[in-house]
Amino acid sequence: MIRLHDTMARSKRVFEPADPKRVTIYVCGPTVYNRAHIGNARPPVVFDVLARLLRHTYGQDSVVHAANVTDIEDKIMAAAAAEQVPIEVITERYARFYFDDLAALGVPKPDVVPLATGQIPEMIAMIGRLIEAGHAYAAEGHVLFDVPSWPHYGRLSRRPMEEMIAGARVEVAPYKRSPADFVLWKPSSAEQPGWDSPWGRGRPGWHIECSAMIEAHLGETIDIHGGGLDLEFPHHENELAQSTCAHGGAPLARYWLHNGMLSMAASKMSKSLGNVVSVGELLARGDKGEALRLALLSAHYRQPLEWSDQLVAQSKATLDRLYRVAGDAEAGEADPGVVDALADDLNTPLALSRLSAIDHRPTLRASAALLGLLGEASTSWFQGEGDSRVDSLVAARAEAKKRRDFAEADRIRAELADQGIVLEDGPGGTIWRRA
Ligand SMILES: [Zn+2]
Repeated sequence: MIRLHDTMARSKRVFEPADPKRVTIYVCGPTVYNRAHIGNARPPVVFDVLARLLRHTYGQDSVVHAANVTDIEDKIMAAAAAEQVPIEVITERYARFYFDDLAALGVPKPDVVPLATGQIPEMIAMIGRLIEAGHAYAAEGHVLFDVPSWPHYGRLSRRPMEEMIAGARVEVAPYKRSPADFVLWKPSSAEQPGWDSPWGRGRPGWHIECSAMIEAHLGETIDIHGGGLDLEFPHHENELAQSTCAHGGAPLARYWLHNGMLSMAASKMSKSLGNVVSVGELLARGDKGEALRLALLSAHYRQPLEWSDQLVAQSKATLDRLYRVAGDAEAGEADPGVVDALADDLNTPLALSRLSAIDHRPTLRASAALLGLLGEASTSWFQGEGDSRVDSLVAARAEAKKRRDFAEADRIRAELADQGIVLEDGPGGTIWRRA
């Protein structure tokens, strides 16, 4: 039995999917215009553990995990203008970095990764339905969601309207009927990227993309909607309003999960390196991806997490010890104590302490896999010191092949080939060497 803390209910609830053969989970993804901060990696790592638990419980093929990529947004346009390149140059570059960073942290690509620019017709259709239903209006090339038209607005974040207006940092705009109204569609100038719509050439607001993608790929009501606590308001409140109003009152998600924020313990970061914060920088200085992953899972996901060099060093030491115990054993059956800890609202600190007490090698390997840990053979973990990024990518490729995601496996092989790394698949796993 899995229990999850549901933000909407403000309590832990027994998890019951609508259809145990198709458990649906959606997590808001990145806006791709710069390198991912280590804090940006917390939600993908946390919700990857949840997806592993759900697959363990309901079956490998019974979970559909979706996460979007926002590839049209004003910050992207600003980055493209600064480099004088089309937005695709920016978005493709940083999406690649993002998924490579996550692969190094043992996070496979979700089953469905829709791009905002690939979903414009669905967004336009949903906006049209919101206008028809009296929940949105067009004004001066914009379309706005009419917040007072839906009396339940604010029920997820439970904030008073005045605070929500201030929190949304709403610009004073003459075309808004209420200051709380938010943008569904906005006009683009001739130089700006844009798409034709019934309201003129323009581009979508940020919130509508998640509602349209969830509808297109997962359905009107999903089992789990996840994301960082910073998205609860206004982003998730707005998604909820849009989807519910577009679907005649059908709820958007049966369970809402939010992870706590990561803070930097600035004084504890090593002085020589300064405030190292991006995943790419941490990997480049030699931190192992799996150690970063373990560090991100060291606190309960709902709690804040203070990031420091010491935390990474401790996590590395813990993994060294676990790899020594596990040796090169094959995975067996997972330990019920570890499964129970994760089933209790993803209690990763308890799961990790139970993991440390396991001395049966196949049980340790299988239990660690639920947390996405011990992804390598022990020999390669200890041999590979200094080559952690290559090891992590090789492990991510093995994961992809296990999931039968051969496109992703081939992509990782090609990426390593670009770096002069040759892979050789054998009966005992994959070994790599420099060409
Ligand atoms: Zn979203």
